[in-house]
Amino acid sequence: MELEIKELALPGIPKQRPLVIAGPCSAETEEQVICTATQLASKGIKIFRAGVWKPRTKPGGFEGHGEKALPWLKRVKEETGMLLCVEVATPEHAEAALKAGVDILWVGARTTANPFAVQALADFLKGTDIPVLVKNPVNPDLELWIGALMRLNGAGLKRIGAIHRGFSTIDQKLYRNMPMWHIPIELHRKFPKLPILCDPSHIGGRRDLIAPLCQQSMDMGFDGLVVESHCRPDEAWSDAKQQVLPDVLDFILDRLVIRDNVELTESLASLRNQIDNIDDDIMNLLTKRMRISGEIAMYKKEHNMAVVQTGRYSEILEKRCAHGALCGMSPEFVRRIFEAIHEESVRQQMELINR
Ligand code: PEP
Ligand code: MN
Repeated sequence: MELEIKELALPGIPKQRPLVIAGPCSAETEEQVICTATQLASKGIKIFRAGVWKPRTKPGGFEGHGEKALPWLKRVKEETGMLLCVEVATPEHAEAALKAGVDILWVGARTTANPFAVQALADFLKGTDIPVLVKNPVNPDLELWIGALMRLNGAGLKRIGAIHRGFSTIDQKLYRNMPMWHIPIELHRKFPKLPILCDPSHIGGRRDLIAPLCQQSMDMGFDGLVVESHCRPDEAWSDAKQQVLPDVLDFILDRLVIRDNVELTESLASLRNQIDNIDDDIMNLLTKRMRISGEIAMYKKEHNMAVVQTGRYSEILEKRCAHGALCGMSPEFVRRIFEAIHEESVRQQMELINR
């Protein structure tokens, strides 16, 4: 499986790291678009992003103005000279974007997850040489991400790149979307020539996470950044919590330390960060387990039952050890963990019952 990749070769954009694309989540009004773009341009940002068609997870959110917003973007290009980057999900979107002079297209996470939609886009774009950036699918499926890149490449599009925007999970933790850095790193390992940008806004989901995520992605060797920036972030119609002022973005970019010759690899810091997050999860789950065990204690008290039910205890140990063995852990190790958990659980139950 190969991809034929050509450089993005964006007119007027120097080839240095990071390639920066910035702009609001959504094009809301002509005034907001021009105001944000002018401020970004004055800070030296050369590529403007804005969502015109917004696929929202649930109905009721702002779904974009559609074609009505394209003349506002055209004005950005005329007045600031910035290149335009817009999300497209259907051939109709792509047609309207190309007509409006959009320079770079991106495929959103929800679209990448749908091979029919990506194929329809690829078929429509066949014969053009437009650069297309493909966001990872919402689910952590590297093959689906590669599949989307292959469909576009198969239609003759060679100026392609990837955007890492993190992956959805049911439980919301520190990040809005889990970074799972090993996935874009594996993509890079498979296709070393493919430019990969990081979208700290959708990974972090919070303003204060943008700077550290930008630095982390640069340290790991990403080629560029896609950052949401809005002239009045608090009033944004979508993704308000994660958008930063153009001034703030400038400040963040200014302080980025860019090290040369960095390969896209996971840094020790990021691996440690993942371990910290997992330990956090373990602590939360243990707390939840102790709480439920406390509820069981109250039940036992009401029904005059002994705290330790040996049958149940043996069953737990047996099942967990077998499960552990299936996951490559020694049954002895798993036994020690569950004996310790059980001991603490019994201690807490005794305390509750005798209170
Ligand atoms: C966006 O860039 O505003 C967007 C909708 O992103 P994603 O497809 O990553 O959710
Ligand atoms: Mn957004």
